[in-house]
Formats: sequence, structure tokens, C-alpha cells
Amino acid sequence: MVLFVTGLCHRRCWYCPLSPERSGQDLAYANDRPVNQPEEILLEARMMGALGTSITGGEPFLVPGRVAAFCTILKEAFGKEHHIHLYTGMAPTREMLTPLVGLVDEIRFHPPQDAWPEILGSPYARSLETARSLGFAAGIEVPSLKGLPALAGILPLVEFLNINELEWGGINADEMRSRGYIPEDSVHNAVRGSRRWARDLPHRDKVHWCSSRFKDAVQLRERLKRIATRTARPFDEVTGDGTILYGVLEPDGQLAPDHLGLREGSYEECDGRIELSWRALQKRAKRLAGKKYIVERYPNRGVVVEVTPL
Ligand code: SF4
Repeated sequence: MVLFVTGLCHRRCWYCPLSPERSGQDLAYANDRPVNQPEEILLEARMMGALGTSITGGEPFLVPGRVAAFCTILKEAFGKEHHIHLYTGMAPTREMLTPLVGLVDEIRFHPPQDAWPEILGSPYARSLETARSLGFAAGIEVPSLKGLPALAGILPLVEFLNINELEWGGINADEMRSRGYIPEDSVHNAVRGSRRWARDLPHRDKVHWCSSRFKDAVQLRERLKRIATRTARPFDEVTGDGTILYGVLEPDGQLAPDHLGLREGSYEECDGRIELSWRALQKRAKRLAGKKYIVERYPNRGVVVEVTPL
């Protein structure tokens, strides 16, 4: 589960991928669901059968009490083995880290690009050592930007260096252009050349490359599929991409679902619409008056991807 704990952040990274709806807003989301109470997080975690949680933001250390409360409830509900890792753009001190001992398993530091050339003498290196001395697994996770090889010096101190392929996005497109970055091609949103900056780093066993294709094709799809299979209604069809498909009938006038020859549980009535298997709707489409269409959307009443009229 991805647990976004706040959109507040003390930094202004030019490549920040946060949307305007989240950036600077002190809001929390479990996956894409807004949450206010810790209990709502448990609902989302149970619904998707989460095995672990990724704490992101914004900057989690700006809301330390919230992070501790969320992690406590997750560990209490799912046990110590529910793995929690936390991202930070800060260099937290021992006092900031200590309350999270036993609640967070792993810290992923995100030092700013201008700190990379002097990383060993920076507060990030000291914070990383402190985190490890407190028993956290600790490493660095950064986007693949020019200057990446400067991080080679810190590799002996870290357990991992995760590099995320830089992605072109609408939010930071102007910043990308002004720095001379261009997309790899017209289909993928990876930035051309970003793999090259990671290639020459030493300690290959600690360096993990996460391509933009892997993130989209594997991580997101697997998360969606997990949620979809657990929340789909009996008549929803789960696609290979983790979206769901169903049919919608908006009848002209009144229409009782038993006139459609549907058994209980194979349809749902919502605000005058009848939602049912898209195949059942397609079979009956010609003899039904009204608006008929197939909906593809993200699971659990998520964003609609496509509406196909019948
Ligand atoms: S630290 Fe993360 S959330 Fe904050 S501005 Fe940078 S990329 Fe955005």
C-alpha cells in the first residue's frame, strides 16, 4: 500500500512529480483514497491484502505524529512482518528517528541533487549512519539525474541505492525542457539518457535500477490487480491491466431488473442505472431501450478509463 501522509514539503525540487491537488496540501491518501482516520488506512490495507506499506509525501517528517500513529495501527493490525519503508528528503536527527524505531523498518533518503558532489560530508551521510545504528535498514533513493556518479562515494555506507528512471510529466515538462531533457520517444515517458548516468556506478550489488516501464508495467499493474480481484463485484471482469469492466444500462423509463432475466447478485441498481456484466448487456443490447455502454475503470470505483457505447 502506498500511504501518502502529507503534501507539505520544505523542498522545491524542479522534478517534483506531485500534482497540484496534492502538492502543498496537508492531506493523506491510502493508495488513491483520501484518509482522515487511522482506521480508514486499515480498511484500504485489508481491501488490497497489503503485505507492506510505503510512506511517502511530501515530507513525512513534517508530520511525525501522524506517521507514528499510522505505522502503529498498521503494525498492531498486521504484525511486525508488515514491512514499512519511509521516504524522506530531510536528514533526520537521532531525536527525529528514535520514535520510529520498531514502527518503520527501512528509511529511503532522498538527498537533493546539489548535495550529491559533497555527499560524504553532508548531513545526509550522518543521518544515514545514525539510522543504521538505530537498527533501520537505510539507503538512498533518487531519480536518475545528471551528476548521479557523484553518489559513488556514499555506496560503502548504504544498504542500497535505488535509482528511478527520470520520467517526463506534464507537471514538470517546462523545467525538463529548460534543462535540455527530452522524452525517450513518443510512446514512453522516460527521459532520454537517464539510464546512462546510472551505468558507471560501482558496487553493482547495491545499485537497483527501476525503469519507468517496470514501474508502469509491473508495479502499478500488480497493485491494481490485487485491489481489483478483492473488490470486484460478481459481474465485474478484471482485466490483465488490473482495471475492471462492466456494463451500464440507463433504461428509458422504468425497468425492473428481473425483466432482464438476471439472477440476484448478477447486477446492481445505482441511481436509476443498472450495472451488470458487460457480456450480459451486450447480448441483450438490441432489445433494450435506453443508453447502454461498457465502462472500464480503475478498481474500487476508481478513475474511469474508457466508456464504450453499445
Ligand atoms: S522532496 Fe519529494 S515531495 Fe519534496 S519537493 Fe522534492 S520531490 Fe517533491
